Amino acid sequence: MPIRQLPDDVIDQIAAGEVVERPASVVKELVENALDAGATRIAVATAGGGKTLVRVSDDGGGIPPDELTLAIRRHCTSKLGTDILAIRSLGFRGEALPSIGSVARLTLRSRWEKGDGAEEVLVENGRCEGPRPAALGRGTVVEVRDLFHSVPARLKFLKGERAESAAVTDVVRRIALGHPEVRFELSGTDRSNLVLEPGDERKRIADVLGAEFIDNALPIDAEREGVRLTGFASIPTYGRGNALQQYVFVNGRPVRDKMLLSALRAAYSDVMARDRHPVAVLHVGIDPADVDVNVHPAKADVRFRDPGLVRGLVVGAIRQALGTSGLRPSTAGAA
Ligand code: ADP
Ligand code: MG
Repeated sequence: MPIRQLPDDVIDQIAAGEVVERPASVVKELVENALDAGATRIAVATAGGGKTLVRVSDDGGGIPPDELTLAIRRHCTSKLGTDILAIRSLGFRGEALPSIGSVARLTLRSRWEKGDGAEEVLVENGRCEGPRPAALGRGTVVEVRDLFHSVPARLKFLKGERAESAAVTDVVRRIALGHPEVRFELSGTDRSNLVLEPGDERKRIADVLGAEFIDNALPIDAEREGVRLTGFASIPTYGRGNALQQYVFVNGRPVRDKMLLSALRAAYSDVMARDRHPVAVLHVGIDPADVDVNVHPAKADVRFRDPGLVRGLVVGAIRQALGTSGLRPSTAGAA
């Protein structure tokens, strides 16, 4: 076959495979957009575990009417200037909305804070309708229906309603832990309904992980060469049978970073049995120029310019917290 450029809708569907894996990834992208828009209240509603409907409503700044159609076009973003190393927002690739629009029915309805009416656009199979006037008091509502309806091969890979719903809940809990100042509401199945009122970090952690964790956790606050580590880590006796309750954030972004998780593990190596896992909520605050979040489209992996420094900070800070509270045998020979 001769070399030819792929049609746009095919390019979008390929990109969608990287950004949108399942309903939970749609929720993640839409909630991150709401946070980037400065929302203080975010409501997530789902039906069918998110397979038939995901709706995210926020009270953020909204989108100027003349930018609505840009928002759903590939590589269009209001967040990235020209320096991809100076990213402070959660999004920056301008890929989420067009990707979702290429594999689902997408409605984007928004009321710009500086305008005086709401408008909406619809996207289906990559085709766009609107903008046209719509009714909305404030902020933005994004509705995603029938995810993968036009891509049966992808649809087949989705799990049952309950498993997808659980994944959605996990995403909301993770993001909510990183933003205690924002009110989150999740409604779907009875099992997944969740309301998280805004408050300080302790309250949010107690609401998400249970008050028992806070009672069994040590506060962490340390800094090394401009990199800051804060959060809470469980005392050694509060270990779990799996590592699911380990929440790590880099500049407010939830990540699943192998190096950070292994550093957490290492911090407990001599106080916790191999088959037990600490519970922790850790925030790494670092100059955006020292971390690359553009490693993976879902932005779950990060690359630090100096991983050794960050690793040392995590291990050192937690060991010290365990040590000063007498929970860890001192390595200085006192034991
Ligand atoms: P990115 O977040 O990487 O910029 P997206 O495709 O997720 O790309 O969104 C495209 C653009 O649409 C954003 O840059 C932003 O300007 C706008 N947008 C999306 N969601 C919202 C929202 N909830 N509130 C305000 N603006 C939004
Ligand atoms: Mg985005």
